[in-house]
Amino acid sequence: MNAFEWVTPKDLKGAVSALSGDSAKVLAGGIDLLCEMKEGLVTPSHVVNLKSIAGLNQMVGRDDLRIGALVTLTELAESESVRSQYKAVAEAALSVGSPQIRNVGTVGGNLCQRPRCWYYRDVAIECLKKGGDRCFAEDGENEYHAILGGGPCHIVHPSDLAPALIAFDAKVEIQGTSARSLPLLDFFVLPAVNWGQENVLAPNEIVTAVTLPKATAGWKSAYYKFRERESFDWALASAAVTLRMSGNTVQDCRVVLGGVAPIPWRSKEAESALKGKTISPALAEAAGKAAVTGAKPLKHNGYKVRLAANVVRIALLRAAGLEEA
Ligand SMILES: Cc1cc2nc3c(=O)[nH]c(=O)nc-3n(C[C@H](O)[C@H](O)[C@H](O)COP(=O)(O)OP(=O)(O)OC[C@H]3O[C@@H](n4cnc5c(N)ncnc54)[C@H](O)[C@@H]3O)c2cc1C
Ligand code: SF4
Repeated sequence: MNAFEWVTPKDLKGAVSALSGDSAKVLAGGIDLLCEMKEGLVTPSHVVNLKSIAGLNQMVGRDDLRIGALVTLTELAESESVRSQYKAVAEAALSVGSPQIRNVGTVGGNLCQRPRCWYYRDVAIECLKKGGDRCFAEDGENEYHAILGGGPCHIVHPSDLAPALIAFDAKVEIQGTSARSLPLLDFFVLPAVNWGQENVLAPNEIVTAVTLPKATAGWKSAYYKFRERESFDWALASAAVTLRMSGNTVQDCRVVLGGVAPIPWRSKEAESALKGKTISPALAEAAGKAAVTGAKPLKHNGYKVRLAANVVRIALLRAAGLEEA
């Protein structure tokens, strides 16, 4: 690991100012950042410790729920208000890694973690994302890569939390030289827009919180994740669904997939297939198929198309309280 200066700002202003220097990086729980530093993937001159700033670890709200960036995944998964009002978010948080990772990993860090593409993680390989001139996954070992929204880089976004938060129309709060807030869906960027980074953050910007709108009665939700290794693993495909039901009819819904695209993938096609219809196993299957409309698998990940459709189907049945077919 390279030598770096350890910065412990007392407030956000100090953190933003420290990030404005050369190659500084934000540290939250440190799970991903320290791995990247040990591997030599990033060599920051300054590491800015967010934990020295008071208040970022708070979860507050009567109507909206404001979740500070330093709230841990365990705190989120165990929160009574999250479990009762935003079930899919609690399920997604609980599905992350192992208990040790959830105890240390934070909401902000989970949303900003870097991709798991094995070419990206190999310090010796300079792929497109790291400033090189080609994507090695395109014609290489691409069984874990994107089937939707890929190109010219084909990563999948690794966060479990992001699809679930987006399914509840979460907003993200960002602090730089000024503060801004935007829908979490718009926080993430496709490689076609910027293949060098996964989100819209400028180098001196920090995620300070995520806000969930007031939970309204009648919404049901579920997060379902399929992974290769049951003990702990990132998603091969996952789906967060929220349903506003009137009896058995879907009035409104959100369907957001994880593990299949470079960003959390909201499927308007699946949502259109569901709206105004009576929920049933056949409808869930049709919506699952609609969710993978336009999928373009690479040589080794064709299996993900059927898998993702099934993951959506199962998430829908779970949210609706129907037996899993
Ligand atoms: C073995 C293993 C299994 C895992 N399994 C899963 C899984 O199943 N699902 C899943 O979703 N994740 C998984 N992860 C990833 C893990 O959840 C994330 O690494 C963790 O949540 C990152 O949180 P952190 O607070 O430690 O972030 P850090 O490591 O501190 O930061 C991660 C990145 O985000 C940036 N950052 C952190 N906080 C902020 C902020 N507030 N504003 C701006 N930038 C910020 C940092 O600069 C860094 O680039 C796994 C990790 C490991 C090691
Ligand atoms: S998918 Fe992206 S990160 Fe992976 S090799 Fe291609 S350009 Fe690099």
